[in-house]
Amino acid sequence: MADTDHLYPPQSPYETGLKGRCPRCGEGHLFKGFISPAERCEVCDLDLAFADAGDGPAVFVILFAGFLVLGSALWVEIAYEPPMWVHLVIFLPMVLFVVVGMLRPLKGLLIALQYRNKAEQGRLER
Ligand SMILES: [Zn+2]
Repeated sequence: MADTDHLYPPQSPYETGLKGRCPRCGEGHLFKGFISPAERCEVCDLDLAFADAGDGPAVFVILFAGFLVLGSALWVEIAYEPPMWVHLVIFLPMVLFVVVGMLRPLKGLLIALQYRNKAEQGRLER
């Protein structure tokens, strides 16, 4: 991405991304809010304008949360046949914890992988 990338040792995109750290130096913060990417790394000054994971993290979170929570709810229903309020008390908070807990690490991971693999929009060569 930048001319000075070779000055930094390669970072694991999994380690930096899941921790929400800069994909180049592994020290600076990747996010300025909960899931808003920072404009620049405060340690190595990497321009994070390339960081656009789009809907990628949400898709993975929805698929995983749907599998985990719906699978658990179906298993509980088949095994115990509890009243409906039990489902609401257990699985509504579970959806929130899974979704909120996974969104930031997954977005960080996808941005770190985007940096590592130099993924960007296709352009026509002229
Ligand atoms: Zn950095």
